[in-house]
Amino acid sequence: MSARLLIDLNKIRENAIAVNNVCRGAGISVAAVTKMHRADPNICRAILSSGIGILADSRLQNLEKIAELNCEKWLIRQPAVSECGDAVRLADVSLNSEIAVIRALDYEAGKAGRTHGVILMFDLGDLREGYFYEDDILSAAEETLILKNIKLCGIGTNLSCYGGVQPDHGNLSRLVSIAESIRNEFGVMLEYVSGGFSTSYSLIHKGDMPEGIDNLRIGDTVLIGRDDITRETLPYLHDDCFVLECEIIEIKEKPSVPVGTIGLASLNRTVTFEDKGIRKRAICSVGRQDTDTDMVPLDSGASVMEASSDHLLIDITDSTVGYRVGDTIKLKLEYASAMRAFTSDYVSKEYI
Ligand SMILES: *Cc1c(COP(=O)(O)O)cnc(C)c1O
Repeated sequence: MSARLLIDLNKIRENAIAVNNVCRGAGISVAAVTKMHRADPNICRAILSSGIGILADSRLQNLEKIAELNCEKWLIRQPAVSECGDAVRLADVSLNSEIAVIRALDYEAGKAGRTHGVILMFDLGDLREGYFYEDDILSAAEETLILKNIKLCGIGTNLSCYGGVQPDHGNLSRLVSIAESIRNEFGVMLEYVSGGFSTSYSLIHKGDMPEGIDNLRIGDTVLIGRDDITRETLPYLHDDCFVLECEIIEIKEKPSVPVGTIGLASLNRTVTFEDKGIRKRAICSVGRQDTDTDMVPLDSGASVMEASSDHLLIDITDSTVGYRVGDTIKLKLEYASAMRAFTSDYVSKEYI
């Protein structure tokens, strides 16, 4: 294959150790989110070796791949009613926001002779999943507590997803206060108050994480090594755990503005161009079917121009490397490009 995804397990392990230490210092447990790499068992083992004790994924097929690994497992997308049998078999805990699903989980857990943990989701305003009104989550907690094979083990929230609403001291304090209401009203413990994902991790650094948030579900920060709010690399983390190596199939000098009447480009993109004169460009044989354009060449003289389904265009005019057809270029991947590389059959995976 002309494209290889290079996965540095040691850097991932070191990132997991560092993120876990920061969270532990703030009284927060980490559920390491594995959906970006489809719960790759080697990566999951590297993460568990950091001391993180929970792996979390949105898909049951991924949890199936790590069924053998010894840790607590969370299903972080609510299962479909038809999936509740598998959810109970593969996950210890799931995130839920519909009592019909929780009842189906109870039924399946009873059949399997197990107890399944439920975290009720509360929507603080981002408007993806979760109960939106406090009274509704209180009734859901009450109904959940009646079920014999379900343990209500916490509440959680999602931010910066549909609405791009940022986590802050104010909205996360509301989650803590709802947890307190449930504890007081029903006399339950609630092990987890799960305050979101990598974007919430930022608040720890700012000293803005409210007391009482005791869990975060983190994928991005561990895997990509950046502060998810500022999008800057955190100096104590590696930002090059995933590198795509791809082969050059064409090198040509061409104008920077297309010639002819310009309409929509591939994949319905609206395009505009700046005239930078004649540029030297390399084409690599990967595209949006295999990756995305949020990637950065390790060669600082090269830059990603654009990608169609199968062709990646890289400007190499300012590079000091004398590239020739058949050479490879390495690019550091961010979340979207790494996620797609993992789902592409056209990219081989190698561990270093
Ligand atoms: C994807 C996801 C996460 C992790 O998000 P990151 O940005 O990778 O930290 C956490 N919780 C839920 C419900 C998710 O879907």
